[in-house]
Amino acid sequence: MRFICKVVFFMLLGSMVAFAKPTIYILATGGTIAGSGSGVLDSSYTSGTVTVDKLIAAVPEINKIATIKGEQISNIGSQEMNNEVWLKLAKRVNELLNSGKADGIVITHGTDTMEETAYFLDLVVKSDKPVVMVGAMRNSGSLSADGPLNLFNAVNVAMSKDSVGKGVVVTMNDEIHAAREVTKTNTTGVDTFKSPNAGKIGTVFYGNVKYYMTPARKHTTKSAFDIEKIKELPRVDIIFSHSNDNPDFINLAVANGAKGIVNAGMGNGNPFPSALEALGEAVKKGVVVVRDSRVGSGETTMNGEVDDTKYGFLTSDNLNVQKARVLLMLALATTNDKAKIQEFFLTH
Ligand code: ASP
Repeated sequence: MRFICKVVFFMLLGSMVAFAKPTIYILATGGTIAGSGSGVLDSSYTSGTVTVDKLIAAVPEINKIATIKGEQISNIGSQEMNNEVWLKLAKRVNELLNSGKADGIVITHGTDTMEETAYFLDLVVKSDKPVVMVGAMRNSGSLSADGPLNLFNAVNVAMSKDSVGKGVVVTMNDEIHAAREVTKTNTTGVDTFKSPNAGKIGTVFYGNVKYYMTPARKHTTKSAFDIEKIKELPRVDIIFSHSNDNPDFINLAVANGAKGIVNAGMGNGNPFPSALEALGEAVKKGVVVVRDSRVGSGETTMNGEVDDTKYGFLTSDNLNVQKARVLLMLALATTNDKAKIQEFFLTH
């Protein structure tokens, strides 16, 4: 009898462990997913008006599959995203994952700068556990709002053991993209997120998660950056190149204390001649200049049409300008050694 009781006890315990729901934290920052407008067909609306509790309540299905906990980090349109929110978010993600309180994290975020926040977190989160960013292109009150299904899918991605070790991912429109690669490509369409250099790494269809690729560059636990040692991020400006350009914005950036400049050059990162000379002068004043491209895909190659060695420029590999800015900020917060910074661009 005692033996049977013991067997039943361990079977019960086993099934409890097997069915224990994972704990997923939803950290809300705002955006269209938390936006509301005056009508179902009204294209004007305000981002960041719905609270995290209401977001969770709108998708009751997620409570059936996970223990969901919500926290409001900010409630802003992501065009207002800033270093303070980034540092707060990164520290909270690290705390939740490393204390064992969370098995995975979903971050709701506006789509405008989601790729920048995703890449920032990819470089500073120190955990292999899933971190999933999600948003919406249609506000919560609009016809065919995409937020609820995106959120349901994001929770499933955050629960999936296949998401472990993939770094920060962005889940939108049934697709999973790696933080380093993903970018917003369409101002209004729901299929806006693409990874032009690499393609999506997975799909999520009504919660069914499938991966096809693994990000190769250093991220999270293998990244060189330690957020605990970074108190503030230095100013890095992006300067856009175009026909008949002038050096004024470059000179202004230097005069206003930029520590780094990312140039969105033409084609393979080519600046207009007078801008090229101004960038060279910036380097002489100690500013770290990274040549990048306004094209949006492909590598900006070292010593192509520009003599990078002569001017002392670095190049971005194939990061887009907004991500090159993120990496350069973290690099400059860590070191002034230009060779090391170039190495970061080739490895992260
Ligand atoms: N402006 C909004 C934001 O980024 C757009 C969106 O979320 O889709 O917060």
